[in-house]
Amino acid sequence: MRLIRGLGAAVLVALAVALPASAQASAPSTAALQAALQALHLYSGYVDGVAGPLTRTAVIALQKRHGLSVDGVAGPQTRRALGWRGRPGLGSRVMTAGARGWDVAALQFLLQRAGDGPGRADGLFGPLTEAAVTRAQSAAGITVDGAAGSETIAALRGGSPPPSAPDPSGPVRFLRPVPGPTGDGFGAPRSDHVHQGIDFPVPYGTPVKAAGVGTTIYAGYNYGGFGNLVVVQHRLGYTTWYAHLSSIVTAVGQAVNGGTLLGYVGSTGNSTGPHLHFEVRRYDTPIDPAPLLLATVARPGGAAAGTRLECRHGQREHQRAPHGADWIARERLCGSR
Ligand SMILES: [Zn+2]
Repeated sequence: MRLIRGLGAAVLVALAVALPASAQASAPSTAALQAALQALHLYSGYVDGVAGPLTRTAVIALQKRHGLSVDGVAGPQTRRALGWRGRPGLGSRVMTAGARGWDVAALQFLLQRAGDGPGRADGLFGPLTEAAVTRAQSAAGITVDGAAGSETIAALRGGSPPPSAPDPSGPVRFLRPVPGPTGDGFGAPRSDHVHQGIDFPVPYGTPVKAAGVGTTIYAGYNYGGFGNLVVVQHRLGYTTWYAHLSSIVTAVGQAVNGGTLLGYVGSTGNSTGPHLHFEVRRYDTPIDPAPLLLATVARPGGAAAGTRLECRHGQREHQRAPHGADWIARERLCGSR
């Protein structure tokens, strides 16, 4: 979130991310545990449902804090020590708006994993979670009521994914949200923290476009420093963040494609001059966007330059081209769902 001066504007648009295919199993209960530990500031890793050393270390810290026997395993006593975040178990009730707890965090993880979740697993069943449940129910062809009971959980847990489900091992690519070179990168030191995104030093009023197919899950002013902020949920737990905007033209719940106009560059929030602060998060943890952005020119509202692709219903993400540019172009043409 800082203005970088002296960089000329080149018309450089792009794409990009290679998601490493995960061979590890993931579990919603592990994700619920990680979400609870994260809320207690004991766990700083991804809420990825994979029980690794960081998760175990966090469980041990919790057990020590509460004087429990220290074994690194989240048994009943440890779950109790998590308070409301440790109960009830997934599937023990029908979750509706206002619910909170272990099962809600597990549900949010399942929604994220399905590719169209609420953007985070915080154990609180709010409007974004309800909207994600509705989308998942619609996609699964089951009763659409926004309430997560056994049928919804079973659909999210899988079995055979619906034909339109994303390929979990496929690449995720992001377009550049604005043209031009980048300024401060991810991890750049700041006075009291490190930079969690990439800055694009572009003029006030530059149109900001969605970096890929997804759903707007936040569109409004943020008092934490982002100013006017838009957050778009993508598949596989990815979100993209667009901060300091002068104005916002998208709304929560809007389905967007790569290239959809979200707002305009500004300097709202904790900013010293017009620029776009852009973040990529996975399960709400900021990651370096740079490896995810390919330097491929794209035209506003169209396919990548020089590319002409046809789109058939249900084709998205199952017709991956060998090169990222073709893939993202196809996804852009084929719509969000
Ligand atoms: Zn920034």
